[in-house]
Amino acid sequence: MERLILIKYGELTTKKDNRKLFINVLEKNIVKLLGEIDFKIIKDRVRMFIMSDDKNVDIIINKLARIFGIHSIAMCYKVNNNIDDINDVVVNIIQDKKQKSFKIETKRSNKKFAIPSMEVSRIIGAYVLKKTDYIVDVHCPDLLVKVEIRENDTYVYIDEVKGSGGYPVGVQGSGLLMLSGGIDSPVAGYLALKRGINVECLYFESPPHTSVEAKNKVLKLAQILNNYSGNIKVHVVPFTKIQETIYKEVPSTYMITILRRMMYRIASIYANEKKFKVIINGESIGQVASQTLSSMVVINDVTTTPIIRPVACMDKLEIIDLAKKIDTYETSILPFEDCCTIFVPRHPVINPVLEVAQTYEKVFNYEELIREAINNIEVVNLNKKNNYDELL
Ligand code: ATP
Ligand code: MG
Repeated sequence: MERLILIKYGELTTKKDNRKLFINVLEKNIVKLLGEIDFKIIKDRVRMFIMSDDKNVDIIINKLARIFGIHSIAMCYKVNNNIDDINDVVVNIIQDKKQKSFKIETKRSNKKFAIPSMEVSRIIGAYVLKKTDYIVDVHCPDLLVKVEIRENDTYVYIDEVKGSGGYPVGVQGSGLLMLSGGIDSPVAGYLALKRGINVECLYFESPPHTSVEAKNKVLKLAQILNNYSGNIKVHVVPFTKIQETIYKEVPSTYMITILRRMMYRIASIYANEKKFKVIINGESIGQVASQTLSSMVVINDVTTTPIIRPVACMDKLEIIDLAKKIDTYETSILPFEDCCTIFVPRHPVINPVLEVAQTYEKVFNYEELIREAINNIEVVNLNKKNNYDELL
C-alpha cells in the first residue's frame, strides 16, 4: 500500500482541447509554489498524484488548497486491483479515524475489473461491518470512503479537501493589475488569477506625498497574492510630477477624473509595451465619484486596451468578505495614504463631460510626463531576494 496526495483537476474537464496545456501549466505552478519541499509528481489525463515524506503532507495540502486549477485534494492509498487488498486498506484507514458510521462509494473506470461498482461497495461494506464496530449510514455518514478502480491500481481515499477551483495561473496569458493599497484591487487580482491570468502589478506612487510605508503595504499585498501565483512582480510608477502638475493646472472638480485618465494612459502604454493582454483593476460601480458609470466612460476613453474589473458588480461587503478569505484584508486596512487619497477634492465631479476633461488636460504636456514616468518604472520581483525583503 502506498500513500499519495491525490489532486482532482478543476474546470479542465470542460476544456478538452486545452487539457494538455492546462495540466502542464498546473504542474509547473505546483512545482513553483511548493518551493523547496522534496516531492515527486505523477500526472495523467484525469488526476495528479504527489508523493512526499509523511512529515510534509500537511504543508503540501495547505499550499495546494491555494493553487488554482485544482478541484479537490485528498490523502489517498494506492493498492492492487484486488478485492482482498482493497478490503484491507479500507478497514485500516477507517479504523484509524475513530468515527461511527461510513459509506462506500465506488467508481470503476477499468471495465476489465470483473465486479461492478455497486457490488464492490457492497462487498467492502460487508467486510468493514464484520471487522469493525462501524455502522453503515448512506445518507449522512461520518466517513465517505471513495474507491476508484482504475487501469493499473485502485485508489482509496476519505477527507477530500476542496481546492480553489478556477484555471491554472498562466493559461490565459498575462494581465497588468492596477494595485493600490486598498481593499478592492487585491481582491480583483485574486479573481483574475483564478481565471488563469498571469497577473503582474502596477503601482503608482507619489513620494514624498505618499510614504514608504504605503509602498511597502502594496508590496506586502502583492506578496500575499503571490501565494496564489508564484510569478508576481510589482512595477512601480513614479507619479509625483504628474500628480503635482494636475493639482496645479486642473480645476479641483476634475482632478480625480484627469488623474485617473493619466493612470489609464500609463497602464495602457506600458501593458502594450510589455505585452500584457489586459488591464485589471479594482473599480466597483458607484463606489466613489470616479466610479459612477459616467465617470468610467470618460476615464476609459483614453485607452482601447481591454479592462477587466472583477469586482465591478460586487457590494463592498462582499469584497471585504473575499479579502478576509484570501488574507489581504488585514494589510489593506493599515492606515497609509495612497496617491488617490491625498489632495482629494471636496466636490469631485460625478458626471464628467469628456470634452471638458480633454480641454483641461490640454494645458500641460502630459505626453512628455507620461513618457518620463514610464521610463523610470522600477520593477520589484517578489520571487528574487531584494532590498524589500526585510521590510515585508
Ligand atoms: P481599492 O479600490 O483597491 O480598495 P482604493 O479604494 O484606494 O483602493 P480607488 O480609489 O477605489 O482605490 O481606485 C480604484 C482602482 O484604481 C483601484 O482598485 C486600483 O485598481 C486603481 N488604483 C487606485 N490607486 C492606485 C494606485 N496608487 N496604484 C495603482 N492602482 C491604483
Ligand atoms: Mg476602491
